[in-house]
Amino acid sequence: MKTPLFPFKAQIIDIKIETADTKTYTLLSKDAAYTAKPGQFNMVGYPGVGEAPISLSSSVTDGIFQHTIKGVGRVTKFLERFKIGDEIHFRGPYGTHWPLDMQSGNDVLIVAGGVGLAPLRPVIHEIVKMRNFFGKVTVIYGSRSPDNIIFMDEIETWRKDIEVFLTVDEIPLNMKWNYDVGMVTKFIDKSTVNPLNAYAFICGPEIMMLFVSKGLFFRGFLPSRVYVSLERRMKCGIAQCGHCQHGSKFVCKDGPVFAYKEITKLPDGLL
Ligand SMILES: Cc1cc2nc3c(=O)[nH]c(=O)nc-3n(C[C@H](O)[C@H](O)[C@H](O)COP(=O)(O)OP(=O)(O)OC[C@H]3O[C@@H](n4cnc5c(N)ncnc54)[C@H](O)[C@@H]3O)c2cc1C
Repeated sequence: MKTPLFPFKAQIIDIKIETADTKTYTLLSKDAAYTAKPGQFNMVGYPGVGEAPISLSSSVTDGIFQHTIKGVGRVTKFLERFKIGDEIHFRGPYGTHWPLDMQSGNDVLIVAGGVGLAPLRPVIHEIVKMRNFFGKVTVIYGSRSPDNIIFMDEIETWRKDIEVFLTVDEIPLNMKWNYDVGMVTKFIDKSTVNPLNAYAFICGPEIMMLFVSKGLFFRGFLPSRVYVSLERRMKCGIAQCGHCQHGSKFVCKDGPVFAYKEITKLPDGLL
């Protein structure tokens, strides 16, 4: 009998290099019934090496889905050597999802930093697909420098349907850059969404999510309508081991997507 920790296999059917350390893997699940919602994650890995929580960076269609993975440590650097045709192991989907279903007619503000755009990409795809269902939509995406931007070729196509601010903290000497410069917080006031009618989804480094949330509240957003995706070290992914416990919450099961107002009740809040 299969336990909740039993992994499935998925074959790599495409690999796209996003940046020097980040790739998007297109995977075909061997579990035909596999499905997931934007914001959920899989525990991805390989026997004998380990597992790491990785969000879905696409929706799931006919067992095909994507993970966008930055090589930072034991598991993710091991996966960097995988080629098309190789198989990875995964279990999931786990965790909560972005509450996109609640938003008929509402404005949406999406703020992402670095590889934090990956879990929000399927939300943007859904919005573009059902564009008339939403009000004004803005994406603010910031990265350290132009060569750290993921999904660069795709971002331009989003501009047809939604407002996009693409910004970097700094431009290296001799690098051409035709977009914005400055922290993502600088663009909160430039977005045309109406705070009284909007939901906000934020994903990136925790310090960035803290300052973005504060900027949104200052602009009139309600804490019950601001959602963040938290990152904590995880082992089991099913709220058994306690590695990701954050006050009374398990980030793997109660999150990773939380309404800001849920987190403020925790002893150490956001950060
Ligand atoms: C819900 C969720 C979704 C995520 N989605 C994505 C995604 O879509 N794409 C993506 O690229 N990443 C994602 N991450 C982040 C990813 O899971 C981490 O980067 C993970 O640690 C990588 O595992 P690893 O074994 O490769 O790295 P590790 O070997 O765990 O090392 C990762 C980093 O943590 C440091 N570190 C190692 N051990 C410890 C320790 N005990 N305490 C503190 N720091 C330590 C290392 O020095 C290194 O800098 C997500 C994380 C979560 C929680």
